[in-house]
Amino acid sequence: MLTRKEFEEAKQAAFRMISDSGVHILPEEIDKINVADFGLSDLANQGIEVFTMFATERISAKVLVLFPNQTEPEHWHPPVDSDPGKEEIIRAIKGKVRFYIPGEDNMKEGFIPKGKDAFYTCRNEIVLQPGDQLTLPPGTPHWFQTDQEGAVMYSFSTCVRDVLDGFTDPNIVRTTQIVEG
Ligand code: ZN
Repeated sequence: MLTRKEFEEAKQAAFRMISDSGVHILPEEIDKINVADFGLSDLANQGIEVFTMFATERISAKVLVLFPNQTEPEHWHPPVDSDPGKEEIIRAIKGKVRFYIPGEDNMKEGFIPKGKDAFYTCRNEIVLQPGDQLTLPPGTPHWFQTDQEGAVMYSFSTCVRDVLDGFTDPNIVRTTQIVEG
């Protein structure tokens, strides 16, 4: 869970990083930024900040922010009825993003969050610099991480159903709980 103060501060920090990346975001759009700690109460290390530009029944466009050294936990977007699951294209805007997908273990630059080895099984590292993009086919497990400078990236995808995402770490809760105070 996050305190209201942590949530608001994270939103503001994400807003500044998006603005500094050159992506135009209006002041009133700060409330379209969501902060996810995945129920782990360790936002600085594991979590993500998401500015949803739009999300319709069929497509969505988001700007994702990773704070310095922050990691988005390993997950996948499962099929729903006749839909094979979310297909997602990531395009790095600012900072370096390290993606991990199934395949040969070539992990060089990244690190597994402390004590969480069992929950980060993908070790095939793909490093994205600004302007690089990566397509994640439906159902592909993935996790991603940035370095000490943080990162901002686009995520374009088919219909989003975040609450149905699967996570390797059984302790994860997708909906962020905010406690007042
Ligand atoms: Zn994903």
